[in-house]
Amino acid sequence: MVDSRLNQSAITNPTPAMPPPPPPYKRLGQHFLVDRHVVRKILKVAEVRPQDIIFEIGPGRGALTQLLCERAAHVIAVELDLRLVRYLSALRVNDRLELHHGDALEFPYDTLPMGTVVIANLPYNVSTPLLFRLLRHRDRLHRLVLTLQDEVVTRIVAQPGSRDYGVLSVMSQYHAEARKAFTVPGRCFRPVPVVDSAVVHLTSRSRRRPDEQFDRTLMKIVRGAFAHRRKTVMNSYRDAGWDQPVIQQALERTHIDPRRRAETITVQEFTALAKAVSSHLASRATSCGTPNDSETETPTSVD
Ligand code: SAM
Repeated sequence: MVDSRLNQSAITNPTPAMPPPPPPYKRLGQHFLVDRHVVRKILKVAEVRPQDIIFEIGPGRGALTQLLCERAAHVIAVELDLRLVRYLSALRVNDRLELHHGDALEFPYDTLPMGTVVIANLPYNVSTPLLFRLLRHRDRLHRLVLTLQDEVVTRIVAQPGSRDYGVLSVMSQYHAEARKAFTVPGRCFRPVPVVDSAVVHLTSRSRRRPDEQFDRTLMKIVRGAFAHRRKTVMNSYRDAGWDQPVIQQALERTHIDPRRRAETITVQEFTALAKAVSSHLASRATSCGTPNDSETETPTSVD
């Protein structure tokens, strides 16, 4: 792990000896923000305060990092591309930046201070698993301001009844209050991506340590319901391999009509359903009612 300190003013005014930034790697989702107006807007949405500790995933060439270092108390950033770590490290020192070389999917999030604010323009190829990873630490990471593909943001904030409403919507909204802040046209990045992006603001719903066992059950319940989104939930669960009596009883207890489709079920109803299934399974003391745990890891993609 490289830990270096940067002088962010050098990003705007690189010394003549500064080498040019390395060319972008497509496989790392490298689309760099080049519009200062958008950078300022992101910081405004995040309401960055002088006492804030910021965690940034993928600082890239430092477009966001620079302003974050000027506005916040401390910036912790993790970048996977060693070329960019070296590029940023070659700039002059700024005491506020702590730069790590590594994979954000492997980052030890429980070492971040309570109340850390996450601000990131996420690499699109791993944006969903990264989002789930961040949400798992909602007790610590209270506010997230993320730039993602526009259609991903649409799915995160989608409401029941919409065709965009799915696993990503339910799980994001269970963990956090989510709102789309604004769209970022492709022309604001280099290289220019094929699709537009958007900034989403997520505020953690709970400061309590998440109950991982319950979160896994909820994920299973939601994925099972959306496994066959055109079918009724009862049929979807049957086709997804669920034990019929377990799910039937839980639907009855939560007053959810088994003939409904997943896309009509609210986040609150899914939560109640997961609670009913959890208590049923706890009383049976075996987990024969659900597909086995190996199928329940955080998905790399959803919907
Ligand atoms: N923040 C910069 C900006 O807005 O211009 C760069 C954003 S670019 C969309 C995504 C950045 O994430 C790239 O710098 C890329 O190298 C980095 N990245 C990709 N996968 C990563 C991972 N798994 N962990 C940490 N950084 C990653």
